Amino acid sequence: MADTMDRRTFMGAAGTALALGAGGSTAEPLSAVAAPPLASGIRGLVDRTPLIDTHEHLMPEADRIAHADGGDGRTSSDFGLLMSHYTDSDLQVSGLSADDYRKLTTHGMDPREKWKLVAGAYERCRNTGYQLCVREAVRALYGEDDIREGNCEKISRRLREGIRPGFYRHILRDVANIEHAQVNCLQNPILRQSEPATDLLSFDLTTVNLATNVQMSALRLAAGGAEVATLQQAHAAVDRAFSTLGPRAIAVKDQCAYWRGLDFVDVPDAEAAPIFARFAKDETSVRRAERKALQDNLFRRCIHRATEQKLPIKLHTGYYAGMGGMDLSVVRNNMADAARLAREFPDATFVLMHMAYPYQHELTALCKHYRNIYADMCWAWIIDPTSATRFMKEFLMAAPACKLFTFGGDFMPVELVPGHARVARRGITLALTQLVQEGWVSESDVSALAERVMRGNAREVFDLKRVLANQP
Ligand SMILES: [Zn+2]
Repeated sequence: MADTMDRRTFMGAAGTALALGAGGSTAEPLSAVAAPPLASGIRGLVDRTPLIDTHEHLMPEADRIAHADGGDGRTSSDFGLLMSHYTDSDLQVSGLSADDYRKLTTHGMDPREKWKLVAGAYERCRNTGYQLCVREAVRALYGEDDIREGNCEKISRRLREGIRPGFYRHILRDVANIEHAQVNCLQNPILRQSEPATDLLSFDLTTVNLATNVQMSALRLAAGGAEVATLQQAHAAVDRAFSTLGPRAIAVKDQCAYWRGLDFVDVPDAEAAPIFARFAKDETSVRRAERKALQDNLFRRCIHRATEQKLPIKLHTGYYAGMGGMDLSVVRNNMADAARLAREFPDATFVLMHMAYPYQHELTALCKHYRNIYADMCWAWIIDPTSATRFMKEFLMAAPACKLFTFGGDFMPVELVPGHARVARRGITLALTQLVQEGWVSESDVSALAERVMRGNAREVFDLKRVLANQP
């Protein structure tokens, strides 16, 4: 049949190309369509290989313990917690009201009553990656296959009982097989200092308050109490933040793509200085365009300092968390803007997060073309699991494997990380298995490839040894 011939011709050509490209190693022969043992072998390999998690928002464990039974507007310690982050967006897009969402995720209501509020919306969106992640989390942590009226109390009780000293290490290491997690703290203006980095957790230095959504309070903090009235003094504050906190940070993180483009124009100091002088007196006095000019000037300063300290710069790119607010006309320029940054700052290392979804093809092209651009699949596996699987597969045939980080849970509640890790491992297994089955990758290369993309690349690019040596 023509169909068979086409396939044979195609696979033959692919085999030749692979043999040529593989420096002497031979591709699998055409007939070697993988049998089930291959798939289960790769699954076992991926399950055994620890992940380095390059992006989380975990709050301090001590805070979770202190507020386990409420207070301070905290999220409840019941099954509502599992529906409080990301999942909530699909639920609300599917009909859950803002008021019911608040009741679901705060203290003060019985789990069964909460279930009645959320059951209808959950049914309407239970197909998505966000909800799959919740189910995988309760499977990994509590041995349940779903949340329903009959087990929501039991899951809630076990979740509450689990909140005790050491539960982060237990969940990340023992349940999720995560070697280390990098945390972007949303509660601290520059870097989390309430706890030191450890073999388990390290922290990003955020440039949001110093530059891309500049706050005078953060600049004053960075200046160590010195006056910040001029651009020169603001630069000194930024420099001081990097010289004092940079050595303790694993990376720089900025999520300004939520409110502006990544087009950081070279605004000369002479132009930015009078704007800053006014801003320092009255933050509301600068117009939108002036504010952007100031952000551009200060963020470029941050890029220089990060480059000197060899801190990779993680940038949010692509899809927006939440619902009802994404301006796609800004998002779709992220990759073109990032390419300009890579050219202008050839010695800086840029990590483009979230697979740039839904512009993941552009991200592959950038990683292939620019030495200093890396792709991070954090959050991507649950935004769109099948696209993430295809992305990984296509990336590995186009861009160097050393440019890919495959996992970040991107969660505030640690309890959801194992669910995300299970979804990711399923996708990684599928991508690698299909590459072998289709004859693109030789079976003997899989083990090294999995090791590299699951943790080896993170070990190469992020200097945890330096971070641990510089803790106070
Ligand atoms: Zn994040």
